[in-house]
Amino acid sequence: MEEVKEFQTESKELLNLMINSIYSNKDIFLRELISNGSDAIDKYKYKQLTNGDKYKATDYEIRITINKNERSISIADNGIGMTHDEVVANLGTIAKSGSKDFVKKFKEAKDQESINIIGQFGVGFYSAFMVGKEIQVLTKSCDSEKGYLFKSDGVNTYSISDVDLKEHGTTVKVFLKDDTGEENYSRFLEYYTIEDLVKRYSDYIRYPIKLLEITSKPKLDKDGKEIEGESEEVKEDKTLNSMVPLWKKNKKDVTDEELNNFYKQKFMDYEDPFTSLFINVDGVVSYNALIYIPKHAPYNLYSDNYEKGLDLYSKGIFIKEKCKELVPDYLKFIKGVVDSDDFSLNISREILQNSPVLRRINDNIEKKVIEKLKEIKEKDFNKYLEFFNVFGDHLKFGIYSTYGMKKDMLQDLLVFHSLNNDKPITLKQYKEAMKENQKFIYFASGRTLDSIKMLPQIEKFKQNGIDVLLLDKNIDEFALEMMRDYDKTEFKNISSENSTDLTEEEKTSLDTLIAENKRIIDNLEESLKGKVDSVTFSTKLVDSPVCITTKNGLSLNMENVLDEESKLQGGYTDENAPKASKVLEINPNHELFKALQTLKDNDEEIKKYGSLLYDEAMMLEGFEIKDKKEFVNKLNELMIKALNK
Ligand code: ADP
Repeated sequence: MEEVKEFQTESKELLNLMINSIYSNKDIFLRELISNGSDAIDKYKYKQLTNGDKYKATDYEIRITINKNERSISIADNGIGMTHDEVVANLGTIAKSGSKDFVKKFKEAKDQESINIIGQFGVGFYSAFMVGKEIQVLTKSCDSEKGYLFKSDGVNTYSISDVDLKEHGTTVKVFLKDDTGEENYSRFLEYYTIEDLVKRYSDYIRYPIKLLEITSKPKLDKDGKEIEGESEEVKEDKTLNSMVPLWKKNKKDVTDEELNNFYKQKFMDYEDPFTSLFINVDGVVSYNALIYIPKHAPYNLYSDNYEKGLDLYSKGIFIKEKCKELVPDYLKFIKGVVDSDDFSLNISREILQNSPVLRRINDNIEKKVIEKLKEIKEKDFNKYLEFFNVFGDHLKFGIYSTYGMKKDMLQDLLVFHSLNNDKPITLKQYKEAMKENQKFIYFASGRTLDSIKMLPQIEKFKQNGIDVLLLDKNIDEFALEMMRDYDKTEFKNISSENSTDLTEEEKTSLDTLIAENKRIIDNLEESLKGKVDSVTFSTKLVDSPVCITTKNGLSLNMENVLDEESKLQGGYTDENAPKASKVLEINPNHELFKALQTLKDNDEEIKKYGSLLYDEAMMLEGFEIKDKKEFVNKLNELMIKALNK
């Protein structure tokens, strides 16, 4: 019986992309099919090892067969196979959200990007349609009596029919497209092409990938001499891969190319990794690991469906993909495999979750990754910056999310932009360049480096040559808040209220100034009720007339970040929104203040200027004026007055 079914809409889209693909690296179809075969054997082997009586052990293999007459290449495995419903679910639809994302991204991408995107996603089985005009799949599940034949040209429909099959497993047969001017599909019918591709992309696969090579050789006579004009067929069954998992090899026996290829294939990246590290631990817990730090963030790192984790093996046998217990959250971008002898295959998911062995491995891997990053930072700071630009925020998050517990481990990996340096600097570099009686590590925060550099508060630091860290990332200030200090020197926001780092002398003169101008201050405070908590004089302004500082530890920038984040999650109500306690600081040396002083007996006039001063200050801090209408009215009033004079 043959039934004809329609591909699910998303499958059709993906297939259409594959069939018309301009992706030049069509070779990957082979590694995708081999990898599916290997996964299928993994699954069968796991069943067999955990349910011994029900399933027979066999000699596992993946076999490639080339048929030049048919122009076909097939990849067969003796793995778990598929039932009728599994064929429909796995081959007729795209179940994985990753592939759905792929179609979406692909459609949005420009030509060059689309080429990269294919490599970045595991498009798996459907990639066979890049090279095949028809694909046939013969499969029998180890849990089913029946076998099935799936057939499709990848356009809209596929058929499924019953077939007699003895053994469990799956054979995928690809009938190659005709050669065109641009693409030579016939090369996949040559043994050496296949040998080369397997060695390049699938060498580490832990089951033998076999190919029966049939060649003809000149026939020899009794004496071993060639008989002219006569030849004979020679059959040779070759195993093409070395089967040793890369992470079990000795580091010095592995080339960079092998390491990088393994990474790209296994973790679906089109780019080489930033760096890789071999870990070999023989102790209370013994394990091998091969860890990669990518060059760029995985495409879905910031979406809910991103799963962190390392692939877990025991004695070379696959146990669990993306085992999240092996990676701390803040390092969720690392990829890799862990192979430990300390697990039995029967281990249940629940036990795995609470396993102290996993926790130990996790701690150890975290330490090694951090050590590696420190080593790169020391050896090649520019290279380190490449990493930090992409993943630096995660390290800060590591400090923030653990309430500072990881401060000692991570603080020397942080780098920041600063006022006095073109290149980002470490906290150690900042400290070493501090002025003799400088008490704090100063920082300023805002949306962009340019807007921070224009803050009125920074003027004095510029004038005195004191360096200021420029924090332009949302997480920055929150992380420094958790750290409190670096090497016993406290951090200080240059926009926090000014009194804390004043000398006694400065304090006294400030107090006198406030006392002398009490009426101005009181009037301004009254007119700005609800906007600022107090008005005072500034000790840090040079050219600007006013600025806003804060005094409860929550800066304007933090208030803004919290506000933005809460909007994404539904928003605070007005009562419980965290608010910065604002102070309007006036530059006592500025012409504007001197002009204000002439009004000192005219309460109403002074009040009028309050909101203008406030709006001006907020604007200088990089924020938008809230009540634009009022601002414009007042400005116009002033201009009219000035022009009519
Ligand atoms: P992926 O392998 O990344 O999940 P594929 O599109 O390659 O995506 O395959 C979809 C699903 O089809 C697999 O998850 C698996 O369940 C099933 N499948 C593919 N190839 C085989 C095979 N050789 N044997 C058994 N099942 C397979």
